[in-house]
Amino acid sequence: MMENTALLLIDIQHDFLEEGSLAVPHASEIFPAVNRLIQAVKDKGGLIVASQDWHPQDHVSFGSNHAGNKPFETITIQYENEAISQTLWPDHCVQGTYGATISEKISISDISHVVKKGTNRMVDSYSAFADNKYFEITELAKLLYQKKIETVIVVGLAADYCVKLTCLDAIKFGFKTILVKEGTRAVFPEAFNATMDELRSKGVSVASIDDDAFANVYLSP
Ligand SMILES: [Zn+2]
Repeated sequence: MMENTALLLIDIQHDFLEEGSLAVPHASEIFPAVNRLIQAVKDKGGLIVASQDWHPQDHVSFGSNHAGNKPFETITIQYENEAISQTLWPDHCVQGTYGATISEKISISDISHVVKKGTNRMVDSYSAFADNKYFEITELAKLLYQKKIETVIVVGLAADYCVKLTCLDAIKFGFKTILVKEGTRAVFPEAFNATMDELRSKGVSVASIDDDAFANVYLSP
């Protein structure tokens, strides 16, 4: 049963933890649920995939690359004849830096594939499946199709950006999609409940790790 299931660990990187440059409040609270899920999916023969935000230093999403603008402002970028709305962030997950590494508080040796995203300096990429404008698709969907995955369980950082967009793309790519709420936290915690409601309205199952309906299927020995 679980051989058709993949656990997607979204951007669990040092820069998104409490000490990081783009800290997600209470990010470390996800680890107990994330590690339970890693163990359960591993034990049942499922696939474990991580995404890694992986930006060049001159990335368009960094406020520091736009004179006169500050992080958390929204600007419009012109690229490939499109006007793209871009939220600016503090510099984060720069390729090769400590902040970009996946946290060792999860079992990295159990991850079978790492999907890098955000490498195009001109387009941001919240989803692990594609950049924000679908100029480029990552290898994630191809990998999941090749492995005959039907269901994805999504956890990671942050609920209101990269986890949300990954869930929405997972639906678009045809997967049954389950977000485990104990396994994610939001950049803007006040947005958490509205984000969950939006995801439910678009077909994502928002589960609690303690729900019998979830635990009986995915956590039982
Ligand atoms: Zn980023």
